[in-house]
Amino acid sequence: MAPRKLNSLDRFLLRLLGRTRGPGGAVRDLHYMQEIFRFSISFTLLVIAPLGLLTTLALESIETETVANEVSRNERAKRIASRVQLELVETFERFELRLSPSLVANTVDINRLLDEVPALRGAYAFDADGVMVAPFTNPVELPVEDTLPMAWRKAMDRGLSLATRDNIPAAIDAYGDASTSTDVPSLVAEALLMRGQLLLQQNERAGLVVLDRLAQDRTSPRERRGFVVADLAALTYGLHLASKTGTPRVEGLAILERLVKDIHKRTWPSGLPNDGFVQRRALEVISPSLDPALRRLYETDLRRRLSLQFWSSTVFDELDRIRNRPVTAGSFTYVDEPKSLWVLGRAADTLWAFGFDHDALTKQLGRSIVETANEIDPDLTAALASSDAPFADVLARQSLAPILPELFVLVRPADPTALAQDRRRQRFARQFITLMAFIAAGLGALLAARLVLRELDEARQKADFAAIVSHELRSPITQIRLKGEALQLDLTVDDQDRQAHYDAIVAQAERLSRLVDNVLDFASIERGSKTYAIKSVALKPLLTLTARTMADEAKAAGAPLRVNVPDGLPRVMCDRDAITQVVLNLISNAIKYGASGGVITLEAELAPKGVRVAVADNGQGIPKESQDRIFEHYYRVASTSVRKKRGTGIGLTIVRYIVEAHGGNIGVISSPGEGATFHFTLPLETPRGQGA
Ligand code: ADP
Repeated sequence: MAPRKLNSLDRFLLRLLGRTRGPGGAVRDLHYMQEIFRFSISFTLLVIAPLGLLTTLALESIETETVANEVSRNERAKRIASRVQLELVETFERFELRLSPSLVANTVDINRLLDEVPALRGAYAFDADGVMVAPFTNPVELPVEDTLPMAWRKAMDRGLSLATRDNIPAAIDAYGDASTSTDVPSLVAEALLMRGQLLLQQNERAGLVVLDRLAQDRTSPRERRGFVVADLAALTYGLHLASKTGTPRVEGLAILERLVKDIHKRTWPSGLPNDGFVQRRALEVISPSLDPALRRLYETDLRRRLSLQFWSSTVFDELDRIRNRPVTAGSFTYVDEPKSLWVLGRAADTLWAFGFDHDALTKQLGRSIVETANEIDPDLTAALASSDAPFADVLARQSLAPILPELFVLVRPADPTALAQDRRRQRFARQFITLMAFIAAGLGALLAARLVLRELDEARQKADFAAIVSHELRSPITQIRLKGEALQLDLTVDDQDRQAHYDAIVAQAERLSRLVDNVLDFASIERGSKTYAIKSVALKPLLTLTARTMADEAKAAGAPLRVNVPDGLPRVMCDRDAITQVVLNLISNAIKYGASGGVITLEAELAPKGVRVAVADNGQGIPKESQDRIFEHYYRVASTSVRKKRGTGIGLTIVRYIVEAHGGNIGVISSPGEGATFHFTLPLETPRGQGA
């Protein structure tokens, strides 16, 4: 790439770096920085940006899915709510539809309606004057205790106390006195009824006459507890005769049956079950002799009317409130009261009020709501609630107005914990993806930074390497030139001196050629073009010869070289020149880093996997942490004793490469200060078999 022109930022950086690094170092560092900058840009474009984009897309898709889920859940919830409302409306529309014709024709069959519509509790009709006409009349006004005439009350009390003391004749007289003491018909009738009942014990005939007269009274009033006196008289009369045998019994039963029929036909005052109690007592006695169909009719009607009585007594106030409501004829109006939902309809002058029991209605509605919700979405459930219900996990809310304005359909998840779990899972997925993206980006950046630093380191080492090699080359060349010139100018003293000059020239030339060999080898290794001619080789001569070329140098360094190679070693398979270079490099290192006054040994022995060759010295050794790294190219231990020696840092790289290319392993055993032993193994000529 053509060098870029310097811009002002570059110039500024150069000035800044120049202060500490010097002008040359500054230029080099600037180039490194530009390199790093370029790398960071490409790294961001190629790694960080796509990663960020992918993460955003992933998060977005989770978000979209979450939103879509929530939306569809809410949609379904809304559907459930409106379906429920629709069902409610339909229920009442069906009710109206069935009711309309009979309402218009004024032929509402209350009993049939009550049978057909389970939640319907009561049906009442009011005439134009607001008087209740079916199935009950308006409640009766019962006489209030403290308005009772004094004389009547005294006579009645006397009668009661005499009767309890079994003084029947005197009691009869007392009740007679009471009956004449006032004009109030109900009080007179009540006194006469007591008198008649007592007379039955004393003078049956006279008693029966009194009771009969009371029973026949068509305008008979109600006594203070609300019983019709004529009914009570007839009941007493009938029961008395029915307890006998023969004709009187038959007569008694007939009287009771008439009483039952009478009460059955009559409209009762609403909220007062006394007529029913009298009818029930009479019905009990005549039941066995009654026609079964008739008996069933009376019994069912009695039971229904009694329950209606009970219910209507609880809704009196509501009936009162709705009785005068304006309702257009032929249409229906809904009135929601606390106890019941009223459907009002008008036919001519009659106002009909159909009361649906609130509890029963909401219960029935509640059941159908749950079914509807289940049908639409099994994960959702619905319930009825009043408006002030808490709306924590409610997905949809639908008012049941106008029919039931106080009620709402609430739709919520069937299993809120599952929903929460679902949400938690999605949140976790989001967090996880984000975290992963950060980790990936962080790791990427870290690795990239390491890569860049390594590259820079290597670039720096390469630059140093060129300088070192040229320096290394210069020193033997200078020596050779000096010694050569001395010989040329005949500056030597004697033969011995001359010989020393020749020897030095040869030694330096050898050193030079070793250096050149190493550099060339390294270059071809780096290029990947190094080849080996592997042949069967006798190791002993090779090792002895190599040792001999280094012997003088070793001696000069003060560490004689000892060769310890046994005879009869098997031949090995190797490239002769390459292995020679390995041994030369190892011995040369042993001389360089070995101790003066020590010994260098070159050994070879038979090992399980071939022949093991080792070069040992007793020099400074190699620190543990550097023992792996010394085989990397350009690596040199960072101690001053090493830095003092000349070296390029490629010798052991070449050694490792060659040994590994022979299928062996280079290793070092060393403790700092105790020397180092480098060893490697070469395969035997005939392999001894796999897995030996
Ligand atoms: P150099 O040219 O520096 O000798 P090498 O690759 O041959 O390069 O060796 C790498 C480093 O290994 C040396 O710089 C030195 O620190 C260490 N080293 C190699 N041989 C020995 C040894 N015999 N004793 C101690 N250190 C050694």
